[in-house]
Amino acid sequence: PRRFNIVIAGGGAAGLATAASILRRRPGISLAIIEPSPTHFYQPGWTLVGGGVFTPEQTKRPEEGLIPAGATWVRQAVAGFLPDRREVALDDGTTLSYDILVVATGLVLDWSAIPGLAETLGRNGVTSNYRYDLAPYTWQLVQGLTRGTALFTQPPMPIKCAGAPQKAMYLACDAWRRRGVLTDISVAFDTATPALFGVPAFVPALMTYIERYGIDLHLRSKLVAVDGDRRVATFERTTTEGTTRIERSFDMLHAVPPQIAPAIVSSSALAGADGFVAVDPATLRHTSFADVFALGDVAGTSNAKTAAAVRKQAPVVAVNVLAALDGKAPVATYDGYGACPLTVERGRIVLAEFGYGGKLEPTLPLWLLRGTQPTRLAWFLKEKIMPPLYWHAMLRGHELMVAPRITQGA
Ligand code: FAD
Repeated sequence: PRRFNIVIAGGGAAGLATAASILRRRPGISLAIIEPSPTHFYQPGWTLVGGGVFTPEQTKRPEEGLIPAGATWVRQAVAGFLPDRREVALDDGTTLSYDILVVATGLVLDWSAIPGLAETLGRNGVTSNYRYDLAPYTWQLVQGLTRGTALFTQPPMPIKCAGAPQKAMYLACDAWRRRGVLTDISVAFDTATPALFGVPAFVPALMTYIERYGIDLHLRSKLVAVDGDRRVATFERTTTEGTTRIERSFDMLHAVPPQIAPAIVSSSALAGADGFVAVDPATLRHTSFADVFALGDVAGTSNAKTAAAVRKQAPVVAVNVLAALDGKAPVATYDGYGACPLTVERGRIVLAEFGYGGKLEPTLPLWLLRGTQPTRLAWFLKEKIMPPLYWHAMLRGHELMVAPRITQGA
């Protein structure tokens, strides 16, 4: 097999940021990124595509230009992990061997878990901001709707950017309010979760918007089937009295699918009980293979699965990978930081930033962000600052405000 010091599986947000960070710290090291896709997507931008603010093209770039100098791009998909042999099997039947492996393959959107959904996506008023090609359809539906019923759904956790299902709804409601048609549209949010948002501090601000837009909120309510032709969605709603099946007809349905670990991970020795890579939550090193690390959406950690989390994880993994390569113990730790910019209306965002256990971790002073309230500043950050920060800083290993916490003088 071809041999590298470091092999990174997945060249998405996490794989690219980690590679760039490692190569900045130790230029000349041999490092391969395994990534089959010729295109990289800035997924956090899809909420704004669905809200009519960004064009889809603003959220994609050729992978070619994002592979850091000095890295070898292996244009294959990982077919299997062989951690006992320090090897990764590729789709073309060949293998790569490594000293250190970083798993960053992201998660899988399980569209097929909801019968009828996949067949009707992009038609019959059924859309999802969770796919590049469908986010523009969300905005098209929002613009076209003048009356009727609009349903928005959220599956059980874990999902990436847990706020995104409701962000799509608030931006739609705001557009309808501005056009003066919101009162003619009945809007419902069905979430499988027991609360509107996982961190209680942000719920009151979000509830204000639920009430302002007149949204019918159903907690513990799971989308279980879609009949696109009849435009009917089926939910399983759980209350203290038990679980009931409810059918609702719709004119527009914004659906978010359940999200699982890729089969190559969940079927491997790297997986924990939930199928995601079993890593130490602080060092991001595998709990049984000392030469394996994982970060991003595929890591089995309890942080919010976001690009914001990746921004903080990548330098931690870079430092710990280089320590491991030198035969040392991990020296940097991650505190679970993740962020979810909740677009409650066009021009205003509630910026939820928090670490493990829901501990609030605002980057800017709270007085600037008005605590947990919506601000124009946070919208400005999301629309104008975050995209260039992503493309030019995070993916290139420039670590603004994310210097890793070093625990044992490295
Ligand atoms: P990805 O960026 O998904 O990359 C995974 C990569 O692995 C892909 O390039 C894929 O092609 C590759 N891959 C897959 N399988 C294989 C294989 N077998 N072999 C090799 N490579 C493979 N985050 C925020 O911080 N803020 C937000 O506002 C926000 N909003 C979001 C809104 C939406 C609608 C969505 C969908 C996501 C949002 N996110 C947001 C989440 C953010 O996009 C992800 O958390 C982030 O992209 C995770 O990075 P990753 O590298 O783990 O996964």
